[in-house]
This record gives sequence, structure tokens and C-alpha cells, in this order.
Amino acid sequence: MVCLMMKSTWTGLIAVLIVTLAVCPLNLQQISHHPIFNGEDAYTYLVEQCDFGPRPPGSDNLSLCRSMIADKLESFGWNVSFQNFTYKEVQCVNIIGQWNSQSNSPIVLGAHYDTRPPGASDPGSGVGANDGASGVAMLLELADILPEESRSLVEIVLFDAEDSGGISGWDWIQGSTYYVSQLNNERRNSINAMVLLDMVGDINLQLPRERSSTASLQSHIWMIAEELGYNATFIDSYRGPIIDDHRPFLDAGIPAVDLIQVPFPPYWHTLEDTPDKCSAESLEIVGDVLEVFVVEQASELSVFPLDSPILLVVAVIVCVVLVILIAYAKLKR
Ligand SMILES: [Zn+2]
Repeated sequence: MVCLMMKSTWTGLIAVLIVTLAVCPLNLQQISHHPIFNGEDAYTYLVEQCDFGPRPPGSDNLSLCRSMIADKLESFGWNVSFQNFTYKEVQCVNIIGQWNSQSNSPIVLGAHYDTRPPGASDPGSGVGANDGASGVAMLLELADILPEESRSLVEIVLFDAEDSGGISGWDWIQGSTYYVSQLNNERRNSINAMVLLDMVGDINLQLPRERSSTASLQSHIWMIAEELGYNATFIDSYRGPIIDDHRPFLDAGIPAVDLIQVPFPPYWHTLEDTPDKCSAESLEIVGDVLEVFVVEQASELSVFPLDSPILLVVAVIVCVVLVILIAYAKLKR
């Protein structure tokens, strides 16, 4: 009798152990990744772009800046390709960075790298430190520091021709419009999230929830920001909607979020949009959130669908077999 009790106690303990092991990965997934995104490095990339001067579509300055961006991405190990298109007789180029050129990465991280030229209503954005360089700078730093195992989840796209709306008959967001028009059905369906960075470097950065963005994806990002203690930057109120490079993705049915400072800062679309209006701290806040977002997606994809349910099924089967064995042992006595 004592022997049987010990046996069933041991069996119970083993069953509990197995079930705990099976459920464990679900909890592990909640452990925060500690971001290593470096705002100072990102700020350096911002200044390096501004050093080329104003960078409107079709300009030599933009072409030189494009080479610099491509060189940096390649030096971090990414494969770079150029997507050429012509708009209003101007040669425009989107820059695409992929870790593995064969893969259909579920996350697209985007920013525009052109700056606004002078027009009738405003002098343009000059060197475009915040409006242009900030988003690109952040993606370059992410390209450098993302853990290698999560890089294949990401495609980095830097759009041309975003910011010339209302000048010489131009419309806004032409680079992203062209990029989305070139996606086939398979690729379109494989993108789970598009995150757009636009004007994310201001010293007093405040990012409200942009109203046209996909609510669930936006809430996920705001939740990460809150966990990291950044709710003074990622504020919980709605602004917009804004016409920006996330729109063509939304129109194609792809979940997309625009991270953009609204209301726009006073130097927006003026020659005062210079590096001194931006800070490494602001870049680091948003960079940290994006880094955690990507790394969490990687761990969800590897832990959730594979290990955990299989372990659970195995645990249940083992428990059932043990119960049958106990019952059989009792019957035999
Ligand atoms: Zn702009």
C-alpha cells in the first residue's frame, strides 16, 4: 500500500514537472529583451546624411547619400538592391535591404530618405534632419545591432519621392506607392507588419497614435513602449490621419503603423530642420522599442508555433499513459 502511494506521488510529481516544462516557453516569451540600440550612433548617421546638403529626388546629393546608405547596410551584412522608377520624368530609387534575399520577411521597416525641395508655399526642408534623416538613421542603427537570428524577419525599405507633394504637380508618397505596386500576391500576404518611421528625432519627441494606422499593431508597439517606461514619448492619444508612406500598405491590406510626431514641430518644412533640433536620446527611445518589437516577433515565431503546443500534446499523452498504468497496477493488486 505504502509502495503504491509512493508510486502515485512520484507519478504525480513527474506529470506536474512535464506540464510545467511544456507551459514554460509561454512564460519565457514574456521576458523582455534588453535593447542595445545606440542613440549616439544613430545620431551620427543622421548628421552624415545632412552633410550631403538638401536631398530632393533626382539630385546628385540624394545619389551620394544613397551610396552612403547602401555602403553602410552592406557593411552590416545586408544585401542591398535598388528599385528604380520614373516619376514626372525624374529618375527615383527606393533602397531595399534584405538579410536573406530569398526570404519573404514578415516585417517591413520603412522611412523616406529624400528631402523636400523648395516650392511656392514653403522653402523646403533644407537638410531634413528630422524630416528624412531621422528615420533612415534609426534603421541604419537597427541594421547594425539587431540580433542575427532576427534579421531575416526584416526587410528595410528606404523610400524616395515622399516629400515633394504640391510642387510642380507632384504628389506625396511616390516611392512607397511604387514599392507596393510591385508586390505580388504571395509577397503581399507574407507581410505581417509595416512600421514607418518619419520625424522621429526631435529633442522633445512626442509620438501620438496616428489615426489611420492598424490599431492592433499600434497597440502592440505602444505596449512595448510602456513596458520600457517610454510613455512620455509614446503618448496615448490620437492625432492625424497623416498621408505618409504607410498608406499604400494599408490600402493593399497590409497591417501598418506610422510613427510620426504630430503636431509637426515649428521648423517642419523650413530650412531650420537641422541636426541641432534632434537628439540621440529621442532616437534611442524609438530605436529601443523597435528593437524589442522585432526580437519579440522572432521569439514568438520560433517558440509559439513549434515547441510549446508540441510539448503540451506530449505532456498530455504522457499523463494519460501514466494514469492508465496506475489504474492497471491497482487492478493487478
Ligand atoms: Zn516632409
